[in-house]
Amino acid sequence: MTLQIDAAFDGGNILVQSVGDDSAELAIRPDADGPWFQWFYFSVRGATGRSLRLRIVNAGASAYPGGWPGYRACVSTDNETWTRASTAFADGVLEIRYSARTDTVWFAFFAPYDLARYQTFLDRATAAPHVTVSVIGQSVLGRPIHHVRLGAGPRQVWVIGRQHSGETMASWWMEGALDCLLNADDPVASALLKAATVHMAPLVNIDGAALGNLRGNAAGIDLNRQWREPDPVKAPEVAAVLAAMEKTGCDLSLDVHGDETLPHVFVDGCDHDPQATPTQAAGVRRFEAALMQASPAFQTRVGYDASYGGDQAAGMCNRALGRRFGAVGLTLEMPFHDCQEAPDPVAGWSPDACRLMGRASLAAILETLQAN
Ligand code: ZN
Repeated sequence: MTLQIDAAFDGGNILVQSVGDDSAELAIRPDADGPWFQWFYFSVRGATGRSLRLRIVNAGASAYPGGWPGYRACVSTDNETWTRASTAFADGVLEIRYSARTDTVWFAFFAPYDLARYQTFLDRATAAPHVTVSVIGQSVLGRPIHHVRLGAGPRQVWVIGRQHSGETMASWWMEGALDCLLNADDPVASALLKAATVHMAPLVNIDGAALGNLRGNAAGIDLNRQWREPDPVKAPEVAAVLAAMEKTGCDLSLDVHGDETLPHVFVDGCDHDPQATPTQAAGVRRFEAALMQASPAFQTRVGYDASYGGDQAAGMCNRALGRRFGAVGLTLEMPFHDCQEAPDPVAGWSPDACRLMGRASLAAILETLQAN
């Protein structure tokens, strides 16, 4: 039996060029209508006993080729628990090697988070007391954009996830944040929900998540450049979230992402915007200091410089919400690589690490609100 390689499922992405006895030549499919690609997610069947050699031949032309050196691909034998596989990048080709002991093995750029799991997340929120889940708009392809609202405190906190659909660490972060907020015995949750109403937009680029896109939505738009004046046709996902924010206001926003290149957790803040006020800048510093206290994985030594985003920076979520609402606008970046400050030689930066960062981030948000 020859290897069977498949990506025809939720979030799947790979093109098969050729398959041998234990090897395959593969390519990542670019985003729908967009120029970006780096997300991959596929299964290999008929793998038992084979030393797999899977070559992604267009890796060197991907959106962030600087992310491949030192990167190790995620691998799973049950599509649930993910570890890392031996991976090398040379001459533009990413080669994954794995000795399979099961018939089916899954490979992905990061631990996937599919729409079935997202539905379970929504169901948990819906069933909880004092939580409202509403549909606030539709994606380009007509999928629902959700708003999860928790608590009734006077300050308005928005957390936003997966504008870039391939950055699945944002969904794992949302699970950790929801776990914390639904735990009545958690002192961070009770204090935060007394101080603030917490609004979650957990899966902004839901079409990209279904299609297996790295970055763009179904219209090929980078949603995190759309927050100043979202195009209602090409970026209805952002238009929907922004319209909901107009009704609630926004004192602090945390937009959760993954960075393809840097092996660190870091923040990019609205203080990089020349229009930011000293109060907003102080809020960013306060959040960073509090997150350093709350998590050994966080650091402030490495991150983006102030010019990140270039002439499109004003359309980024943290800048645009800073200007529109006077919010402390924050972007949290987590790695696809392992995290140098909290390394895990088996799993690398992992779903569990993202969940812990979700709770730690809420603790840092609470401290920021108490000071500002
Ligand atoms: Zn991103």
